[in-house]
Amino acid sequence: MFNIFQKTINKPVSFEGIGLHTGKTSTVKILPSAENQGIIFKRVDLKENNLIDAKYTNVTSSNLCTTLENKFQVKVSTVEHLLAALSILGIDNAIIEVNNEEIPIMDGSSKNFLDILKIVGTKELKTKKKYIKINKEINFNYEDKEITIEPSSSFKIDFELNYENKIVGNQKNLVDIFNDNLENIYTSRTFCFLEDVEKIKKIGLAKGGSLENAVVISDKTVLNKGGLRNEKEFVNHKILDLVGDFFLSGYNFLGKVKCLKGGHKLSNLFLRQLFEKNNDKFEFIELNVKKEDNITKVSYKKNNITSIAVNA
Ligand SMILES: [Zn+2]
Repeated sequence: MFNIFQKTINKPVSFEGIGLHTGKTSTVKILPSAENQGIIFKRVDLKENNLIDAKYTNVTSSNLCTTLENKFQVKVSTVEHLLAALSILGIDNAIIEVNNEEIPIMDGSSKNFLDILKIVGTKELKTKKKYIKINKEINFNYEDKEITIEPSSSFKIDFELNYENKIVGNQKNLVDIFNDNLENIYTSRTFCFLEDVEKIKKIGLAKGGSLENAVVISDKTVLNKGGLRNEKEFVNHKILDLVGDFFLSGYNFLGKVKCLKGGHKLSNLFLRQLFEKNNDKFEFIELNVKKEDNITKVSYKKNNITSIAVNA
């Protein structure tokens, strides 16, 4: 669904859960916010310097999860699945209070966050939403990973991953974030390999990890009872991560992303490159709506000839 106007949530909502990496329980309270405020994390366990903007420039670590940090070294980690839920619901402005350094992992996907946000619902604000409209192809490589973004009338993600492990193997999926049913995307869980679990725990991460919040793969099998939630759960989770990480741009995109073997780090390096070196290849636009014979036509503000969506 294309949103014309900015949104926030209707009323505050709170929940708690365990952090995947810290293993600590934290309480999160999401509050409505005004136009053009963006998404702001607030560490309520600290008395000062406790605001952290959900901005790609504040990403200081992308090792196994996305960590944001303000200039006072105050951090909040594992933000990507909550950000993906906000992005999917078109919520541009909210304050996210958390009493710890990590956002709870919940079930390892964005499902619980979407369920919670849907209970309170969204509220449309009076200011129009700005989209990043890609006008020229941009390509970015890092090690053996690659992201390309090209012009498109929607936000599409074409993701391919390639693992030696036969259970994951080579998975590919293409989704249209504004027009497809995203259930298989937002319910897909984070995953890891059994052989890596001990290594990850040794470096002090995944203390809260369990079969309740991650898909764990051994050589030839998925260890979780009930197996996978959908056939392409691995690549679908990577798509979800990309939605969350790209939302750290502060905007939704009109462009088609092709991503090979990407992850948190590649997405962040790509956004930095986009804003630092490729300003001539995209523009910020607002959308217009015109109703004609019960058909809603959505078009660009700067070019009304280009109709981008027609909904009955
Ligand atoms: Zn993830």
